[in-house]
Amino acid sequence: MRVTGRVQGVGFRPFVFALARRLGLAGFVLNDSLGVLAEVEGEGVEEFLARLVADAPPLACVERLATEALPPTGESGFTIRASAGGGPPDAAVSPDAATCDACLAELFDPADRRYRYPFINCTGCGPRFTIVTAVPYDRPSTTMAAFTMCRACRAEYQDPGDRRFHAQPNACPDCGPRVRLVADRIPAGRRREAIAGGPRDAISAAAAAVRSGAILAVKGIGGFHLACRADDEAAVSALRARKHREDRPFAIMVGDLDAARALVELDGDEIRSRARPIVIAPRRGDVAPSVAPRSRELGVMLPYSPLHHLLLADAGVPLVMTSGNVSDEPIAFTDEDALRRLAGIADLFLLHDRPIRTRTDDSVLRGRRVVRRSRGFVPEPLPLPAAPALLATGAELKSTFTLARDGRAWVGHHIGDLRNVETLASFADGVEHFERLFAVAPQLIAHDMHPDYLSTSYALAREGEHVAVQHHHAHLAAALAEHGEPEALGAIFDGTGYGTDGTIWGGELLLGGPGGFTRAGHLRPVRMPGGESAIREPWRMACAWLAESGLETPPAWANVRRLAETGLASPVTTSMGRLFDAVAALCGLRETVTYEGQAAIELEAAADAHETAAYPLPVTEGAALVLDPRPAIAAIVDDLARGAGVALVSARFHNAVARATAAACREVGAPAVVLSGGVFQNALLLDRTTEALRPARVLTPVRLPCNDGGISYGQAAVAAALHGA
Ligand SMILES: [Zn+2]
Ligand SMILES: [Zn+2]
Repeated sequence: MRVTGRVQGVGFRPFVFALARRLGLAGFVLNDSLGVLAEVEGEGVEEFLARLVADAPPLACVERLATEALPPTGESGFTIRASAGGGPPDAAVSPDAATCDACLAELFDPADRRYRYPFINCTGCGPRFTIVTAVPYDRPSTTMAAFTMCRACRAEYQDPGDRRFHAQPNACPDCGPRVRLVADRIPAGRRREAIAGGPRDAISAAAAAVRSGAILAVKGIGGFHLACRADDEAAVSALRARKHREDRPFAIMVGDLDAARALVELDGDEIRSRARPIVIAPRRGDVAPSVAPRSRELGVMLPYSPLHHLLLADAGVPLVMTSGNVSDEPIAFTDEDALRRLAGIADLFLLHDRPIRTRTDDSVLRGRRVVRRSRGFVPEPLPLPAAPALLATGAELKSTFTLARDGRAWVGHHIGDLRNVETLASFADGVEHFERLFAVAPQLIAHDMHPDYLSTSYALAREGEHVAVQHHHAHLAAALAEHGEPEALGAIFDGTGYGTDGTIWGGELLLGGPGGFTRAGHLRPVRMPGGESAIREPWRMACAWLAESGLETPPAWANVRRLAETGLASPVTTSMGRLFDAVAALCGLRETVTYEGQAAIELEAAADAHETAAYPLPVTEGAALVLDPRPAIAAIVDDLARGAGVALVSARFHNAVARATAAACREVGAPAVVLSGGVFQNALLLDRTTEALRPARVLTPVRLPCNDGGISYGQAAVAAALHGA
């Protein structure tokens, strides 16, 4: 019997061992480079095979079970044999998993030898991907290599009947990693608070300081967080100011599910999954105003490491837990780096000596849809039929890479905005790490068509056959590959993507599959006055659309209007993201933004979901269909002049885009429609467009983000299709 999938380092062999013994079967089980191999003989073989998949350990994921009949050997007893070496390592490295219930019970049991030990773990939980340094996955190939197991831990590790059999990060207070609190930066008054109260460990001291208003840098599983009380406006606004983060919402960690439900309306169990993502949901309870200004939602997560559980239990209040960085830099993940870069932000540091190999941000879900796919999901492979050995380098914002071979694609962790040497270095390191972990030697290198992206230069500097993939085609191909569909009409709406004609696309109707596409339609082109600055200053897009619609603009905008009319330093765009920016600016919501998509997010948040009317947004025919928002712009100006509220204007605009998109799709006549691109993170737009498209079949990305985090997987799908053709 051969089992492939995620079956190593997840307690699969002891599970097979226990199952075979229970059914009185003889034989053996071993790990090899392809997964798990076993031979069983005896009366209960049928039941054995049935239970093997149905009762598999929680972290295991059986992709395939192949069996072959062999003559009985007559042997007795069942054994776990030593691993066989050789061949390409195909056995998956598991994602990091949240602390399991059994470990949690021990963590809070004063009689247990691991009582309050912040690194407790077992075969069913604990760090994996973030501590792996090489394959095969074994203790010396992790950042636990430097810790020598004590006798008690070693005995657990070697006992097939123990929950910690071959749990590579197995440790205890006698032999494992330790936390330490660095509190020298804390103001004297608060330091007394932190140290006061008798003999406390580092975690309870840190929790006491946070309770009294301090900002704590805490080392987690994939990197550092900055933490403070979520109900303390002074602490939260101080954190915001020191981090130079003006508006983007902070995530909150709460102690348990009840505390999460007190803050947000949850539907679904994703918040409790082993991946323990941040779940963005409609807010219900109160937090300090600076946590998520002007947002109707909150991002909430549950503790996922034993250290978090202890910290939250000791603090007794929800904590802001935001990435440990300054503005848009990558998060800190080594102690030295954190102490240096976060010195101006944190009052105290809760550190530990188990190194993090790969910096991995928290994953983010909105409802069930992935917005950022990282810790807890990576490096779980996605299917990619017929993929040769290839690398796809993604786009620029929310960057990820994808490596693939033999029908599987490994989408890397979220790298961030690939715009400086620091992020490029972690991008290159991530690619090389994955190449070793999954034995991929890419022959094909796929990249974005944009000549100036760092991901493009990285791709072109590598040897191999290069494939330039159009940005929105990659969005379409990613959604199709995820759903295993050959082709569809894609309504791909985002901020910026390099078009085949050299202009900036972003409101596209593309018909086709991974092998190719035709541009069936697009948003009416308009100038971006001043180029890139129009992204940071949405009022410029408002000016451009007013000018394009033949409407008046305020006298102060005369220079920008001239840019729009002459085209000087003002590239042409069909971007839907920029149209949303323009409308947000017309509504007076935002003249400038501090992060990409901010104006559109606030426009969505302002909408009255009960409004059913829509502005006119006709679809005109020509060589390609054109969605013409000028009548909508004129109607918005009229409504606002009449004193209509932003809630009404925003809703009517959302409805207009949804209905125009559906009308255009019907005109093209495709049976299946893909809705993707960053603009479709807007749940109201997605719902309204899906409704308007009925009864057409609508496909949207679920396991990968619809934003540029999904681009590399789509590029891989395109490269694989072209290679196979
Ligand atoms: Zn456990
Ligand atoms: Zn130990």
